[in-house]
Amino acid sequence: MNQKDQEGVFVIQHEHWIGGSAREPQSGSRLVRLSPADGRELASVAMGDAADVDAAVRAARQGFDSGAWRNLSGSQRGAALNRLADIIDARFDDISSVESEECGKPIAAARADIRYGLDVFRYAASLASNISGRLMADSSPDGMGIVLHQPRGVVGLIVPWNYPVVCLVHKLAYALAAGCSTVIKPSEFTPGSTLLIARYAQEAGIPDGQINVVIGDGARVGESLTSHPLVDMISFTGSTRVGAVIAEKCARTFKHYSLELGGKGATIVFEDADLDVAVEGAFAGFTVNAGQECCAGSRVLVQKSIAARFIEKLSERCKTARIGPLPDEKTELGPLIHEQHLKGVTDYIAKGKAEGATLAAGGNRVTAGAMRTGLYIEPTLFTDVTLDMSIYREEIFGPVACVVEFDTFDDAIAVANETRYGLANAVWTSSIDTAMSALRRLDSGVVWVNTTLQLIPQMPFGGMKDSGIGRENGLEGLQEFLQTKSAFVKLRS
Ligand code: NAD
Repeated sequence: MNQKDQEGVFVIQHEHWIGGSAREPQSGSRLVRLSPADGRELASVAMGDAADVDAAVRAARQGFDSGAWRNLSGSQRGAALNRLADIIDARFDDISSVESEECGKPIAAARADIRYGLDVFRYAASLASNISGRLMADSSPDGMGIVLHQPRGVVGLIVPWNYPVVCLVHKLAYALAAGCSTVIKPSEFTPGSTLLIARYAQEAGIPDGQINVVIGDGARVGESLTSHPLVDMISFTGSTRVGAVIAEKCARTFKHYSLELGGKGATIVFEDADLDVAVEGAFAGFTVNAGQECCAGSRVLVQKSIAARFIEKLSERCKTARIGPLPDEKTELGPLIHEQHLKGVTDYIAKGKAEGATLAAGGNRVTAGAMRTGLYIEPTLFTDVTLDMSIYREEIFGPVACVVEFDTFDDAIAVANETRYGLANAVWTSSIDTAMSALRRLDSGVVWVNTTLQLIPQMPFGGMKDSGIGRENGLEGLQEFLQTKSAFVKLRS
């Protein structure tokens, strides 16, 4: 169904959210968002610029300086975050279908993302009342030292399109728990769920000005936010290329920053692994979210002794993948996010063939039936891959994996670590010794053993090497949004 009414006006109009109300873009600029699933017009999206960012930052600054949020007790902030989680829970179907439609996520995957978002809000709520400092009562004969952890201030949260809610809550829940005020820049392709959360937060009693949303592209909105003098910190999730730009911009205005960046994860399958379970895990590792996944296990490393059987089974699994309609509970792969990204992924597939890799499965756009106007692509598996090929080295961000064979444990670790990235790797083995040794030696912020892509809010998440700086989730995730202040109190005796 078209999203316009009978006069051709968009029913879904995404506006900025500033100081507790919807605001049209000052320039009047808008984008028509097309559905990745079938190309129909989904929504008309406000496209912001520096003036909108300035208004949002000033609203956040005023909110922070008023103390209406930061001066609440931690348990009051926690209670408000729990109310927000309850409201999201009550509107679970609404927000899940917005996430599904805008991102092109199968509905089951969108629901899982929202369910996880609820868990993160509830966990961050529990931390809000546990922010405490330290007292050094006996460290000096002259007096006592005190260490305080205070909110950083106004924080800019820049979020990509592949996991709009998951990437947002990794930032927003902890920023709010810490007492910060926020300006969010969602991707212009997927702002819907973020705007709903901002509205629900108002219902939950989180004061206006704590959550502001400016939609727009990176060049205008992202850069204005990053260089705004009244912003104290930027928390960014996106590509490594843009992460470097953000770091430079933040350095010029002395902002704190945290960066969650790209990845090129390895799925490492040892000969003692349960083969069928490992095949299913390897398949999920590079096809979840149609491979648009920072933690994708897009390099599949398999021990030589089992390689032939493993490749045969994984290729078969690719051929039986359920690609299709988003509302179908059984759909495994939805479409890619937009036309330009689809082209990028198909270019990589062509490059893989030209570089001499063998296509073991997939490689084509899916155009059958209702998918002919969507941006679907088959799960694609390359074998005979060498470590210098671009499909092996670069983040493709589509359902494309390279299989590389290894001989020994040491070879596996060396090949897995042979990348500029260091976000997540998964190991499949039945040996506790292999598992523990691998997790010790892999250069990545996350290691999964006999599972993949599994996050829990209590565990810090983030990358090594070019995959990022800082951590989200867990106690470390909260700490990013706090700054440390020390005091020494001189005593008479
Ligand atoms: P991107 O870097 O192009 O954009 C991310 C966000 O930054 C978007 O909101 C974009 O508008 C904004 N942006 C772009 N240029 C900017 C600039 N100069 N200044 C400020 N903001 C700017 O990434 P994308 O294509 O939206 O997302 C895919 C990338 O994100 C992949 O590399 C993926 O691995 C990474 N990612 C990482 C994680 C993680 O947790 N490590 C999670 C999800 C995605």
